[in-house]
Amino acid sequence: MRIDLIGRWLMHLAFPPVCRGCGERFDIFKTPDPLPLCPDCLARWESVVQRRAQQGAQGMPQALAESGCRAMFSRVTYHPGQKQLAERLLLRAKDHRDRPLFRFFAEDMRLPLWQLLEQYGDATKACIVFVPRRPEAKQRAGHDQGEQLALALGDALELPVVCALQHRRGTSAQKQLAAAARAENAKSSYLPTKHAAKLRGKTVILVDDIVTAGTTLAAATSLLLEQGAAAVVAATVASASPDIPS
Ligand SMILES: [Zn+2]
Repeated sequence: MRIDLIGRWLMHLAFPPVCRGCGERFDIFKTPDPLPLCPDCLARWESVVQRRAQQGAQGMPQALAESGCRAMFSRVTYHPGQKQLAERLLLRAKDHRDRPLFRFFAEDMRLPLWQLLEQYGDATKACIVFVPRRPEAKQRAGHDQGEQLALALGDALELPVVCALQHRRGTSAQKQLAAAARAENAKSSYLPTKHAAKLRGKTVILVDDIVTAGTTLAAATSLLLEQGAAAVVAATVASASPDIPS
């Protein structure tokens, strides 16, 4: 038996793996390397993905379209406050650096993202940039879910991740603001890092966990284009919809 497999078993014995959707424990002797979701939750996830695809609702929020972003991809629609599977997984990703979960999201998004890249940009000259969360929030959670998603996508798509954006200190949290103030706040919230120079002529996949009104992604897109990126396509795990699902 391979050493890494033994190591993983020992780790599973110390930290029994559970389904991130329903909390059910996996029998690691039956499935030594389980997915982060049990078969029932996986089927539910796939039906949420299907529903999103059937809606054909890949249209961009207006703010994002106006920023010059070429296309936007979200894997699922989620309904805040409904405590459904997508929301549970997103909350988990926000609070825990759960690498298997980020890997799951990345593998799940890999193919449609690759198609988007080929359609709207240059896949041979592409890189991934994430929207960083506020330093206080990152410190509180111990990680940045956008960064973790970007790293997992970098592995899945075999593309470099560039830390091109940073938060300007002293800006307000977006969720505490009204819509108009959000757009202004988002614009002044980010600065390019010294690595932003690497984006010149590149197609950028701009990654975040969730998109709501698109003002944050729009502000980040404008900044990346100013830094010389050839094209920006935005990708999120979920887009928030206030409508209650039928
Ligand atoms: Zn489950």
